[in-house]
Amino acid sequence: MLVESIVRQTLGLKDHRVLAVEEEGTALVARLELKHGRLLPCSSCGRRGRVRDRLEMRRFRHVPLWGMSVRLEYAPARVSCRHCGVKVERIPWARGKSPLSRPLVVVLATWTRLLAWEVVAKLFSVSWGTVRAAVKEAVDHGLRYRRLEKVLYIGIDEISRRKGHVYHTQVYDLLDKRLLWSGEGREAATLQRFFNELGPEMSRRIDAVCCDMWNPYIEVLKQQVPEATLVFDKFHLLRHLLEAVNDVRKAEARELRKTQPDLLKGTRYIWLKNPWNLTDKQRERLSFLERINLKVNRAYLLKEAFRRLWNYIHPGWAKRYLRKWFWWATHSRLKPIRDFAWLLRRHEDGVLAWFKTPLDNGATEAMNNNAKAVSHRAHGYRTAETFTLSLLHCLGKLALPKTVHRFV
Ligand SMILES: [Zn+2]
Repeated sequence: MLVESIVRQTLGLKDHRVLAVEEEGTALVARLELKHGRLLPCSSCGRRGRVRDRLEMRRFRHVPLWGMSVRLEYAPARVSCRHCGVKVERIPWARGKSPLSRPLVVVLATWTRLLAWEVVAKLFSVSWGTVRAAVKEAVDHGLRYRRLEKVLYIGIDEISRRKGHVYHTQVYDLLDKRLLWSGEGREAATLQRFFNELGPEMSRRIDAVCCDMWNPYIEVLKQQVPEATLVFDKFHLLRHLLEAVNDVRKAEARELRKTQPDLLKGTRYIWLKNPWNLTDKQRERLSFLERINLKVNRAYLLKEAFRRLWNYIHPGWAKRYLRKWFWWATHSRLKPIRDFAWLLRRHEDGVLAWFKTPLDNGATEAMNNNAKAVSHRAHGYRTAETFTLSLLHCLGKLALPKTVHRFV
């Protein structure tokens, strides 16, 4: 009797009642029945109609109780709806044809935001497939009720799955700090898919986009959001420059291999770190190396000079400084630095756009780190769909379905 009332209360039953709870092996089966003479809501429109007939018995997996699995058993009714004709009733504890009760969906979805799917499956004695189905249902629900009207600034970034073998394009809402979309690939077609799903009306609301100087994305952005300001992310710019400095170091170390093999050994991070982050030992080494006329030192100084660009406030002055830096860089006789300078020159508008619209992908960096954690938790998801699902679930700030009783 007590278990029956727990089932009734936690499901918030109104038009239905618990006939009986029976043991079946190690499971509990709660048999549910209609209350007599009720009008039931139509699954299409929600208006109530008279019961016409009954369908076959269906089973729903429910939240386990004290480690015992719980099933709900019920034969759904078909109602005569005045607007839709004959329709299945809207079952209050599950969605559509789902074999999972809504509370179970919410419980599994809540824990999968914190734990690996395998662990959640074990905890609730369900299969991995059931966990996936629950996450899918929760994400579908969240996406259905998601509001996008206030998405003004988006940030585009990429992360890798399967130890860097597969790339995913990530689109973030920079104001709300949430993941909007994720898709396998980093081609023009990948980003195009995002805009197809977003639709032209929502795309028009976007004021600015922050991303890397990556031509496939830039092409799509020019087509899809021609009015939006394109700002190149300063963290990506610096990353390109750091790679160039590192390339200069590697080339020079190769040149010095015969004459002074130890001179540049172990100096990689000295050249790449911010000067104020150096350890005392590294600072000492740097001040020694600075006295020798090294190529990598020239590259280092150009990197530090480039960083000062963001101290400017006025766009005009920033532009003059950038042009000056371009001259230094192109006259540095350091090929990687020169290549970077030309890359900047080709994308100058987007680099300088920052001084009018100071956006960067700093916030997405933190989210990308979370995304990596999500990916590690599952040892790298096997399929793009599951990976995307998990990312949206953990980073999309999506609302979970509501339940009458708080199970977790
Ligand atoms: Zn209807």
